[in-house]
Amino acid sequence: MNEPSTGTTAPQAAVGILDPLPQRRILSLLLTLRCTAECGECGTQSSPRVRTRLPEEEAARLIDEAAADDYNLVAFTGGEPMLYGRGLPRLIRRVTDHGMPSRMVSNAFWARTPDKAARALGPLADAGLGELNVSTGDEHARFVPIEQVLYAIRAGLDRGLTCAVMIETRAANRISGRTLSEHPLFHDLFTSSEREALTLCESPWMPLDEHERFSYPEGTTINAGNLFRRSGCDSVIDTVTVLADGRIMACCGLGTQSIPELQVGQVPTDGVRESRRRAEADFLKRWIRDEGPERILAWAAARDPRIVWEDQYAHRCQACKRLYSDPLVGDVVRAHYEEKVLDVLTSEWLMHHSVHPSRRAGPRTLPPAPVRRS
Ligand code: SF4
Ligand code: SF4
Repeated sequence: MNEPSTGTTAPQAAVGILDPLPQRRILSLLLTLRCTAECGECGTQSSPRVRTRLPEEEAARLIDEAAADDYNLVAFTGGEPMLYGRGLPRLIRRVTDHGMPSRMVSNAFWARTPDKAARALGPLADAGLGELNVSTGDEHARFVPIEQVLYAIRAGLDRGLTCAVMIETRAANRISGRTLSEHPLFHDLFTSSEREALTLCESPWMPLDEHERFSYPEGTTINAGNLFRRSGCDSVIDTVTVLADGRIMACCGLGTQSIPELQVGQVPTDGVRESRRRAEADFLKRWIRDEGPERILAWAAARDPRIVWEDQYAHRCQACKRLYSDPLVGDVVRAHYEEKVLDVLTSEWLMHHSVHPSRRAGPRTLPPAPVRRS
């Protein structure tokens, strides 16, 4: 996903232009696929009827492994993580006790009033929750009014949490970052400095079928003219995602439910370290991390003109699904990927390992962690 970022509680220090980019490792746990909402095209295919849950003891084991491997953040998502019950604050406490920051991604169904929002968030804040990301948009608002999103954010700010709102984007959507920031409650509930500091992140709402097309605001879909704006995928390999059914995936993108090749392990047999190692052993995933799926599609199309890709994708995970599922693209990748090995390895070394001699001993700033939608 191409999202902006929120800050975290990770230690910060100056970074120089010649420093390598630190690799932020995130463990993302989809504790339950049950959700109070039933958004069309929900990336995790969640609904009130789905009951799949990740056992708490398995989630705890994975958190312990992530801590032992110096992960930088544990994200609790779903489905709706607030439906996980008392296990959620217990798991947050476990993350906190390991000295790691935590994040919850939620739809704010629990914030029906300001008081209810504060009461629901209290145990999580007490357990050390560091970030609250709330998802909204036209689909979400069919189930959770945007007023509740604002109550949830107010409660989060009152408890000192870093807060962000993720807003689905399609052409002619009623709810956008602008409409949210013009809502009377937005001005009533937040000070001007809070309004300025709050991250309102618009992200394309993608169809789960790679052949389906949504309309997006002008300039949102990718083509040769704006391809330069797309960079590598910041989720693949560096985020290990554990789905509620126990599958361990190589990223936290919307392709996790529909791209089988992203599965790198299975609970309870596998763990965080081995799953990450498997992801890193796959050249295509490293190439996606380096260049992103859109550039790889463009590269494949240059070798086979039957591959039509321009102005079809706004969300990079839909482009990624095409990359993995289109046999024409697969044929080009298999036939020509060796041409890219040197580029990808050089780029990895330059971005993540090369250190200017004058800075070798210096501390580094971790970049802010990307925001994800529920
Ligand atoms: S998109 Fe989020 S809020 Fe909507 S059904 Fe899926 S998990 Fe629930
Ligand atoms: S589905 Fe593809 S583009 Fe999306 S996060 Fe995963 S690896 Fe990245």
